[in-house]
Amino acid sequence: MSALTLNFINGEWIKSSNRKTFTDTNPAVHSDVIGEFPASTPEDVDSAVAAARVAFRSWSRMPAPERGNILKRIGDILTERKDELAFEMTREMGKPHFETRGDVQEAIDTAYYAASETRRLFGHTVPSELPNKFNMSIRRPVGVIGVITAWNFPVAVPTWKMFPAIAAGNTVIFKPSEDAPHSGALLVKVFEDAGLPTGVVNLVQGGGEVGSALVSHPDIDAVTFTGSTDTGGKIAETCGAMHKRCSLEMGGKNPMIVLDDANLDLVIDGILWGAFGTTGQRCTATSRLIIQSGVHDKLLEMLKSAASGLRLGYGNEKDVDVGPVINQKGMDKVLGYIEIGKKEGAVLEMGGARATGGKLDNGFFIEPTIFSGVTRHMRIAREEIFGPVLSVIKVDSYDEAVSIANDVPYGLSSSIYTNDISTAFKAMHDIEAGITYINGPTIGAEAHMPFGGVKKTGNGHREGGWEVFDFYTETKTVYVDYSGKLQKAQIDNT
Ligand code: NAD
Repeated sequence: MSALTLNFINGEWIKSSNRKTFTDTNPAVHSDVIGEFPASTPEDVDSAVAAARVAFRSWSRMPAPERGNILKRIGDILTERKDELAFEMTREMGKPHFETRGDVQEAIDTAYYAASETRRLFGHTVPSELPNKFNMSIRRPVGVIGVITAWNFPVAVPTWKMFPAIAAGNTVIFKPSEDAPHSGALLVKVFEDAGLPTGVVNLVQGGGEVGSALVSHPDIDAVTFTGSTDTGGKIAETCGAMHKRCSLEMGGKNPMIVLDDANLDLVIDGILWGAFGTTGQRCTATSRLIIQSGVHDKLLEMLKSAASGLRLGYGNEKDVDVGPVINQKGMDKVLGYIEIGKKEGAVLEMGGARATGGKLDNGFFIEPTIFSGVTRHMRIAREEIFGPVLSVIKVDSYDEAVSIANDVPYGLSSSIYTNDISTAFKAMHDIEAGITYINGPTIGAEAHMPFGGVKKTGNGHREGGWEVFDFYTETKTVYVDYSGKLQKAQIDNT
């Protein structure tokens, strides 16, 4: 058994206290078993939290730029291992190798960005209302952070959370998805090899049960979660009852609006990437294509022709554009939504079934699927499908397009294609989403920009960029009175 199929607690790779395991397999090649990983217990969470609490004392006191130096080393090792990590990530969760390389690159960018922030972590100095008194605010780390993630960005998303958390002086318990334990362990191995001190990041493998034990642990100060809106709701309830801060990044139903004046060739590239990249299994995937009537029919024909050229397969093999969906449950869900779309009266333009034949029989492959004639009230226009299914909606005007774009419970990403500068700026304000792309698809986040959504996608926090540091720090207000006498604020002192 490889050490990396164990938990990592207090600087050691160890088994779960109950010795139970779960199996992780390649979604594109069923016979490829990646490993048996610990089905961890609440006792394992106890050990990990205790280690993180001890490590917090020294880690939080280390000068922030020294913590930044370790993050730089982590970035360097990720750079050296980019290819091998990407290979294993593709093997584990299915997206093609060029995409998993991008996933690692995002982690590299985040490491260097967080390292640079350790030389800022700004507070404020402001004038006092009293003489000979100095007012300032400083940032303090929050404490021990529980990190719970989904599988679709198995390296990038955990690092969006862990790098700013440790840069700010917190310590971490990381629970990767049960569909990406191997990638999670490989990432933690990079931390170990970079010399991250014992106990600063601890890894506990397992599914929802151990995630739930982590959230409700009394010595976890904050929880950061990426996953479905249902799970996020449960986590928020527990955190609310326990007065913990929690940051939630959840589902999406992202619209792309194409107006009559758009550059259609550009649009086609954007749709293929937005709707079928990562097999549609991105929180930011383009799931609704809202087309103005003047270009609707032409664009639909262009799209079908372009999408029929997408090559499905195991993403570590050559010339693969689209990988499998993650597992049987994911496949059943997507095929279920295709049936719902047909029953609702949408027109199946292409795809609509499990992709079979040759090597495709060995994995969870689904044909890229396009429905037209979709209306705003259909479930395929409102609910997150999380697969290679695109719902096309025809509209007459910009106003109708925006009204439909906003008519869903989610608000993560959005996009509009137009060559009219005034319309583009109007859309920036009108579309209800955390992110809007102008003349680009709904995917393409950069590490140094805030990332997150409104409505049922988020709970008001942002990952990425400078804003994420607000989640991982507490503000301490400091008053220094050097007048040598008692001065009372708001009271007449003369
Ligand atoms: P999921 O909610 O099933 O699982 C996510 C994580 O939560 C996993 O680690 C899982 O083990 C854990 N978990 C499950 N039940 C739990 C509980 N009761 N308490 C604590 N932890 C628990 O989601 P998934 O299927 O792995 O991921 C797909 C979802 O993630 C989609 O909805 C997608 O949109 C969303 N997602 C969002 C973002 C974003 O940034 N907004 C990014 C990626 C994925």
